[in-house]
Amino acid sequence: MGKAVPTSGFQVLMSDIIPPPEVIYVDSHKVACNGGGGALGHPLTYYELGEDGTAECGYCDRKFVHQDHAHEYVDPSPRPEGEH
Ligand SMILES: [Zn+2]
Repeated sequence: MGKAVPTSGFQVLMSDIIPPPEVIYVDSHKVACNGGGGALGHPLTYYELGEDGTAECGYCDRKFVHQDHAHEYVDPSPRPEGEH
């Protein structure tokens, strides 16, 4: 807020932007996905999370991440500059 953002002269066609796959955090290594039902739905399918604690739905590209692995995605620790 308070920072001016130019909106004119820069138009983005939202329909051209593909939203990133939804990430769903789970506390089980077995998940089920039906795409949320409705028009975007698909047959109920079960997945088992892999060794990395993630699984991806082959129908709707949703990504399931186990909570134990969630920190790798939602809270990346910043790397101090100037250090290796
Ligand atoms: Zn799905």
